[in-house]
Amino acid sequence: MIKSLAVLGSTGSIGVQALEVARLHNLKIEALTVGSRIDILENQIREFLPAVAAVADENAAKELRIKVADTPTKILSGADGVAECAACGAESVLNSIVGIAGLAPTVAAIEAGSDIALANKETLVAGGKFVMSLAKEKGVSILPVDSEHSAIFQSLQGCADKKQIKKLILTASGGPFFGRKKEELENVTLEQALNHPNWSMGAKITIDSATMMNKGLELIEAAWLFDMPAKDIDIVVHRQSIVHSLVEYSDNSVIAQLGVPDMRIPIQYALTYPDRFESPVRQLDLTEFGTLTFEKPDYETFVCINLCRRSFEKGGLYPAAVNAANEKANELFRQGKIGFLDIARAVSHALETAPQNDDYSLGDVFETDRLIRSQTERLFL
Ligand code: NAD
Ligand code: MG
Repeated sequence: MIKSLAVLGSTGSIGVQALEVARLHNLKIEALTVGSRIDILENQIREFLPAVAAVADENAAKELRIKVADTPTKILSGADGVAECAACGAESVLNSIVGIAGLAPTVAAIEAGSDIALANKETLVAGGKFVMSLAKEKGVSILPVDSEHSAIFQSLQGCADKKQIKKLILTASGGPFFGRKKEELENVTLEQALNHPNWSMGAKITIDSATMMNKGLELIEAAWLFDMPAKDIDIVVHRQSIVHSLVEYSDNSVIAQLGVPDMRIPIQYALTYPDRFESPVRQLDLTEFGTLTFEKPDYETFVCINLCRRSFEKGGLYPAAVNAANEKANELFRQGKIGFLDIARAVSHALETAPQNDDYSLGDVFETDRLIRSQTERLFL
């Protein structure tokens, strides 16, 4: 098992659970980074005493520097400080930053030769081409933390030849609005959208689950991680979130990973792979659930899934564009500035207007992100 770890986004839903796993297995925390929540970070610094920590927000970093002056931890700031923490050289860097802000730190960590435990799916959606080839070049592993991708990764253990994989099947909870039609979603509130049936997560991904954009992003994430064409990745709605995803092989045998919905299982597996250890997660008692259901997604209502699929098939900067539009629109919805269905409208608009460029650089990805964000804002204001 790895001995040293950096946690990027340590105050978030995944970050806090990652530190719980680290505490349980006595991992040395080399670096911690956050956006702006310095109250929680201060406690984490006092417990784990990392060599460095970074706060993206400059003012919050200044405040924290004074608060933890009695500790050995050096406090860095801004996006550069976060990237410097990512490049601290820990054996594994768990990236649980939310959004495109996670992409540059992932690249920095790979450059430094660390293995990546990846929760930040936006890293692969927008920058998959660069992240996967750089990881290969540097000989580092990208281990999925996202539960569906961890399930697929676990179901692929023992597969000797990639040609024997026929299909990846991602399960989706369906979110809080499963079964509703488009007309019924026009006026849903933020509170309703934040009410996820099975998972307690950060606000951005919870809204992504309500629009099912999350499943579209995950389709692209899976395509990059497992080098599969989008046409061979299916989505099935499974309301109970017990079967976390499946792999169909050439003999039509299907292997799945199951467990109660608790992110500490995939987090721990990404840190202990290929070994397994005791975990605080409760055992799965199938009889407690009785019935597991599987249904087709309603693609007419939850259009974001196929918008993502199409963006990946178009290639180039299209996935970065739909990701940027979604991030901006998701934020505007959470601020009460636009309606729920406007999120899909923004994503659809981005797919039509994204810059066409097959020979794009990582710089073009960031530029597209900026461009589509401001375009999305103008669309509504
Ligand atoms: P969250 O909002 O709870 O936490 C996000 C973390 O990122 C916080 O620590 C925040 O301080 C930090 N952050 C925000 N902006 C930053 C910036 N500019 N620079 C540096 N750090 C910044 O989010 P979450 O639910 O933990 O999700 C994190 C990532 O993991 C997302 O990409 C999400 O899609 C993915 N993920 C989450 C879950 C889950 O169960 N929460 C499951 C699968 C995948
Ligand atoms: Mg997931």
